[in-house]
Amino acid sequence: MKTAIYPGSFDPVTLGHINIIKRAANAFDKVIVCVMVNSEKNGGLFEPEERVELLRKSIQVENVEVDVYRGLVAEYAKQKGARVLVKGLRAVSDYEQEVQMAMINSKLNPDLDTVFFPSSEKYTYLSSSVAKEMARYNADLSEFLPREILEDVKKRLKANCK
Ligand code: ADP
Repeated sequence: MKTAIYPGSFDPVTLGHINIIKRAANAFDKVIVCVMVNSEKNGGLFEPEERVELLRKSIQVENVEVDVYRGLVAEYAKQKGARVLVKGLRAVSDYEQEVQMAMINSKLNPDLDTVFFPSSEKYTYLSSSVAKEMARYNADLSEFLPREILEDVKKRLKANCK
């Protein structure tokens, strides 16, 4: 069985992420979407376990699982017996960093390879940060975020403003 891992912060999941998840689910037998907790990105809008819940609410695809991991993705992949990491590429600016990460990950775990999915044209501009910024200005979020989580995001931002 070919298992792929799609790691990221997902703070929160966007329609750009969902697009990559669905395409990866078509390409592999099983996809594990993993919320990675790293020391650099502290203080997100949602706690890692909340991000997992938002992802689960947004994806109803049979061969997709959601998990959270505090550590290196190369190690997580070993534990899960996965040999593929899935990454989305939005622009040339993503490329340099992602290729560097792919090299580091295959050094840490030589069985691991990284597969890139080009972003769908519709979502090349979209990141979690852009979605949060739009939400702060009360923009229509239905183009950015899965409808299942729209209320959760609005509620959290409102609570943070108080
Ligand atoms: P961000 O905070 O920038 O949205 P994440 O760390 O949550 O990013 O992203 C996880 C993965 O998803 C990365 O491989 C990233 O390149 C990819 N990704 C994020 N947004 C998109 C998008 N709109 N289209 C394609 N891939 C994306």
